[in-house]
Amino acid sequence: MKSLRGVTSRSAVILMAGILLAFSVLIYVGVEVLLDRYVDGRLMALAETIAKIVEQHPNILEESNEEHTLATERVQRTKDQQGFQGVTHSIRIFSPDGLLVWKVSDTVPQQSVADWVIEQVRLGNPVYESARATDGTTVRHLYISIPRHGQTRYVLQAETSLRRYRDTMKSLVILLTIGSGAMLLVAWIGSRWLARKALTPIAMLSASAETISEAELGRRLTLESPYQELLQLAQAFNSVMERFQRNVESQRRFVDHAAHELRTPLTIMQGNLEVALLKARTSEEYREAIINNLEQVGRLIALKRSLLTLAKFSGDKPPVHLAPLILEPLIRDVVAELTILFDERRIKLSFESQSVPPVLGDAQWLKQALINLLDNALRYTPPGGAVTVRLQTVGEGIALTVEDTGHGIEPEHLPHLFERFYRTDWARAKDSGGTGLGLPIVKEIAEAHGGSISATSQVDKGSIFTLHLPVQTRQTTPA
Ligand code: ADP
Repeated sequence: MKSLRGVTSRSAVILMAGILLAFSVLIYVGVEVLLDRYVDGRLMALAETIAKIVEQHPNILEESNEEHTLATERVQRTKDQQGFQGVTHSIRIFSPDGLLVWKVSDTVPQQSVADWVIEQVRLGNPVYESARATDGTTVRHLYISIPRHGQTRYVLQAETSLRRYRDTMKSLVILLTIGSGAMLLVAWIGSRWLARKALTPIAMLSASAETISEAELGRRLTLESPYQELLQLAQAFNSVMERFQRNVESQRRFVDHAAHELRTPLTIMQGNLEVALLKARTSEEYREAIINNLEQVGRLIALKRSLLTLAKFSGDKPPVHLAPLILEPLIRDVVAELTILFDERRIKLSFESQSVPPVLGDAQWLKQALINLLDNALRYTPPGGAVTVRLQTVGEGIALTVEDTGHGIEPEHLPHLFERFYRTDWARAKDSGGTGLGLPIVKEIAEAHGGSISATSQVDKGSIFTLHLPVQTRQTTPA
């Protein structure tokens, strides 16, 4: 596995090397161009000065040796004045047909000039060219015309050695190489230092995260760092731990409750069976014990059904798939399916519906919610009572109500009805066979649809449970 520290310092060095290379090439090329211009400019200044001398003293080249020396000295003086000391210069003068007629020094033996050079010079164009000297160094030549009466009288060649300039360029390369190497070293050391400084708190975080065991989920990471990003990381980790802890605790509570709810019917069944086996019983007594146990089995089955429904939840929420849904036929189907159960208990089940707009809903889960509400109404309404399902528009949403004429619920229980495994004392005493999971499931389903559930009740008159759902036009986010 790659180490972030290694990758960071390697990347910094590679990036720095690229930048330094580009910078060095730029400097090298720039200096070379400037030096070339400088050399050519100096050469032109020298050539023009000599050309002017020769132009003003047309016979200078034919005069005596003494005067020749004088001219040479003058040339030397001019060169000195122009700061060419230490740079090998040479001057040659050729006739218009390209033959050497005069020279100051001879770094490159040259007796004639190429025709094309003469041609260009005659046209008034100065000609620059580079050549190799006998000592292997490069020299630069400039040819210009020395005119007389508008014609080319002579062709002047000014020459300078490029040895000094090449040496300067070599020194520049050495300087750039050493400088770049030093900077790369600094970049490598610096990036390693920075990476270590930035990653040490992360290493500390992961070390303390590893020490958090399941038994101490309440522990939180503490990080003292001046860096905002690292503090945010610690905060994010702690909030994940917070949610994880809440989930684990709710799971534990749920398992405790479920075990408790399972224990009651199982204990009753065990008691019934033990009593039945204590001595010989009449067939009527056995029948009674079996009926008792059958009731407990029914309760266990109901519990299992609710637990299975909760097992389908992802986390604490039902995994709803929302789609435009017309509720009226769905409710009518559920009411039709359950009517037979209500008839058996002589409870009148009816459905009243207004024309309501479609909702964004999951048909299966909404059906489950309505079944849970009707199941309660059936269980807690005495024979001869009535249960009415209503579908209507309320405000900007839809209200699905289940109203019964049953026992009702005491006001102190109303705020707790939607807590898992909560059952009223009356329901427990009556041993209605409930599980305390029906209404919490309805609440989760309602909330997953962006809706809510509420209950109102009057003891001995009945209860009304209302499922509020938003209509399709409203944006609903599945939980
Ligand atoms: P249960 O399976 O026990 O009915 P629920 O979560 O569906 O579980 O209901 C929780 C408690 O709310 C019930 O035990 C009962 O006491 C009370 N309750 C629910 N619906 C009604 C109702 N229609 N009439 C009277 N009490 C009700």
